[in-house]
Amino acid sequence: MLEKDLQSIVDRKFRKTVEVCSNEEIYLALLELTKERIKATGNNEGKKKLYYISAEFLIGKLLSNNLINLGIYDEVQMILEKNHKSLSEIEDVELEPSLGNGGLGRLAACFLDSIATLGLNGDGVGLNYHYGLFKQIFESNTQVETKNPWITKEGWLEKSDISFEVPFKDFTLKSVLYDIDVTGYESNSNKLRLFDIDTLDETMVKDGITFDKEDVIHNLTLFLYPDDSDKAGHLLRIYQQYFMVSNAAQLIIKETLEKGHDLRKLYEYVVVQINDTHPTMVIPELIRLLLAQGIAMDEAIEIVTKTCAYTNHTILAEALEKWPMEYLEKVVPQLLPIIIELDKRVRDKYDNEKVYIIDKDQRVHMAHIDIHYGFSVNGVAALHTDILKNTEIKHFYEIYPEKFNNKTNGITFRRWLIHCNPLLSRFVTELIDEDYKRDANKLEDLFKYIDDDIVLQRLLEIKHKNKVTLKNYLKETQNVDIDENSIFDIQVKRLHEYKRQQMNALYVIHKYLDIKKGNIPTTPITMIFGAKAAPAYIIAKDIIHLILCLQELINNDPEVSPYLKIVMVENYNVTKASKLVPACDVSEQISLASKEASGTGNMKFMLNGAVTLGTMDGANVEIHDLVGKDNIYIFGKSSEVVTKLYEDKGYRPTDYYEKDEKIEELVDFIINKKMIKIGDPVKLARLYKELISKDWFMTLLDIKEYIETKDDMFKDYEDRKAWSQKMLTNISKAGFFSSDRTIKQYNEDIWKL
Ligand SMILES: *Cc1c(COP(=O)(O)O)cnc(C)c1O
Repeated sequence: MLEKDLQSIVDRKFRKTVEVCSNEEIYLALLELTKERIKATGNNEGKKKLYYISAEFLIGKLLSNNLINLGIYDEVQMILEKNHKSLSEIEDVELEPSLGNGGLGRLAACFLDSIATLGLNGDGVGLNYHYGLFKQIFESNTQVETKNPWITKEGWLEKSDISFEVPFKDFTLKSVLYDIDVTGYESNSNKLRLFDIDTLDETMVKDGITFDKEDVIHNLTLFLYPDDSDKAGHLLRIYQQYFMVSNAAQLIIKETLEKGHDLRKLYEYVVVQINDTHPTMVIPELIRLLLAQGIAMDEAIEIVTKTCAYTNHTILAEALEKWPMEYLEKVVPQLLPIIIELDKRVRDKYDNEKVYIIDKDQRVHMAHIDIHYGFSVNGVAALHTDILKNTEIKHFYEIYPEKFNNKTNGITFRRWLIHCNPLLSRFVTELIDEDYKRDANKLEDLFKYIDDDIVLQRLLEIKHKNKVTLKNYLKETQNVDIDENSIFDIQVKRLHEYKRQQMNALYVIHKYLDIKKGNIPTTPITMIFGAKAAPAYIIAKDIIHLILCLQELINNDPEVSPYLKIVMVENYNVTKASKLVPACDVSEQISLASKEASGTGNMKFMLNGAVTLGTMDGANVEIHDLVGKDNIYIFGKSSEVVTKLYEDKGYRPTDYYEKDEKIEELVDFIINKKMIKIGDPVKLARLYKELISKDWFMTLLDIKEYIETKDDMFKDYEDRKAWSQKMLTNISKAGFFSSDRTIKQYNEDIWKL
C-alpha cells in the first residue's frame, strides 16, 4: 500500500520511478505522503482545549519524527532501501525550522509531541520567524551570526485562511496564520499555529542579522529575540509579544464561539498555558476582548484568572521581564488601563510592594501579572520549585500557596531515543519488548540485566558504533578528526556564564598542562562543545572565543593532540544534538547550583547511556536520586551554600585566584603568549579579568572539586564492565523523564482536559 502510494505521488509529481528520483524529489514526495497520512488520522478533540502559548518551538526536523509517530518509519526505510536510497540522506534535504533558542523552546516541542500522543486536545501558538534565532558560523575563532532561512516553497507550513487585525498605537497589522501538523505516537494529531504578517520584507536584512528595527510593519517576524540592547530592540520585542498574544486571544475567542460556547464560562472550554513571561500580555488582552463582548471588568478578570496558568523557567533576575510603562504606552496603549486596574486591585489588597505589578520605577513586572491573574504557577524541577517557594518569589507563595506546583520537565522518547539512537532502541526492544515506547517506566525492566555480561558488552558495542557515526559526521561537516576509541565528553547547550562552559575550558587547560608534564591519560579524551551565544552577550562570546583558541592550540600540538582533542561544534541545534547525544560517554551538567531551573539535555544524555558529571542543580538532583550516587558524579557547592554566598556577598574570586597556585596557573593561561598569538588579546584579557574580579557564577568556587571529580571519572571509565553497569542503570531509570509523564501531570493537576 505504502509503496504504491509513494510511487503514485512520485509519478504525478515527477513522472519518474522512485529509483531514479533525486533525494530532493523523494523528500518532497514523502512530505506529501506524510501530510496525507496525517489528514487521514484526524485531530484530537474534546470539550476543553489547551492553548500552549510560547515565543519558541524548537521542533527540529519533522520527517522522520512524523514517520515514526505514524508507525510507518521502518516500512518507508525498507521501500527506500529496495530502491537504493537512504532515509538518512533524504533527511539531510530537510531544513531545520529555526523557531527556538534552547531548552525552553525544545521543551515546548517535546510537550506538543506528548500532548498529541496522549490524545489530548491542545495546540501550540507562536510566531513564524522567517530567519529564526541566527545561524552560527566561526570565523577567526569567533562567533559570527547570519540569518537562518528555513522556509521553503513546499514544507510543513500550511497557510490557513484565518487572519486577525492586531491594533497597535500607530497602525494595525493584519495577521496570517500558518499551521504545522503535530503528530502523536500512534495517535491523532494537533496543530502548531504560527502567526505571521503578509507585509514582511525579507530583503531588509543587510549585513549578518542587522536590519531597521523601527520598521515594524516589515520586520515583525524576521527574527526570534532580536537584539534588545537598545530601545528600538525593546519596543520590537513588545510588538512581537503583543502580536503573538492578540492573535492567540482572538483565535481562542473565535474557536470558542464557533463551538457555540458561552464566553462567561471560558475556563470550562479553554485553558491557556503561558510558557515563561513572553506571552504574559495574553492576560490583559483576553480581559480587553471580554470587555468588548460586554462582560464587566470584575467578571472578565475572574474568567481570565480561571483560564490562564503560568510556567516559570528561571530565577535569573535579568530573565524576568519588566517592561517600562512608557514603552507599553508607545506600542499597546489599549492595555495600559487594564494593567493599571490589575495593579490597583493588588495594591488595595496587599501591603507589600514586592508583589505589586507596577513598581516605583514605573516598570511592569510581567511574572507578577501571571501569578496574580493565573490559577497555577509551576516550576520545572523539584529543586527549582522549592527555590521559587522559599526564596525567589516567596511573598507570592505566602499569598497563594495553593497555586504553586512542580512539573519536572521531560523529553519525548520518540525523538530522543527511537529516532536518534535506533541501535539502542532496537536492542532495548529485543530485551524487554516494545511497551516502553508507550510506557517509559517499563525501561526499569532492563535492570534485571545488570550482571549480564552479554547485555553489558552489547551496550558498549552500541556506544562504540554511535561514536564512529559521530566521528564520520564531524569529519564530513567540520573536517575534524577524532578518535572513536577516546572518551567522548560533551557539553552542548546555550552559552551562559551560569552553565559554566568557562569552567570546562579551565579543565581543558588543566589537562593540556598535565599532558605536557608527561601525565598521559590511559584513554585519550575528546572534549566536545556546542553553544550559541546571544549576539549582545559579550562575555558569552568571549568564552566561545576561548574554547576555539584552545581548540586551535591543542589540536595542532603533536605532543598533546593524540591524547586530548577539542571540538567546538558549529551552529548547535536539534539536528546536531541528535547526532551527539547517542555518542556521549560523559554528560557535562555543571551549572552553578540553584541556577539551572531543570535542564533537559541532562535527560537526553542519560536516556542514551551517558553518565552525568554534574552539580546538585535542576533535574540533576532527581537524576541523582533515581540512579544513586554510584551512577552519577556529583561535585560542587550546594544550592543552599550558593544562595547564602549571594546573600552575604561572600564570594570573592580574587581570594581563590590569589591563594591557590593551581587556580592561578589555569586562569593565567588564558592570557599567556601562545594564546594571545592565536586569539584576540582584547577578548582574552576581558574574560581573564572577568574571572578574577567578578566571576558572578562562581567558577573558581567549584573548579578544584570539578577537576578532581572529572579525573576520577576518567579513571573509572577504564573498568569497562563497571562503567557499562552505570550506563545500564542510567538508561533503566530514565523513564521518569519522559515528557509523557510530565504532560500527564500537567493535565491531571492543571489543564483537566
Ligand atoms: C535539549 C536541547 C537544549 C537544552 O539543553 P540544556 O542542556 O538543558 O540547556 C538546547 N538546545 C538544543 C538544540 C537541545 O536539543
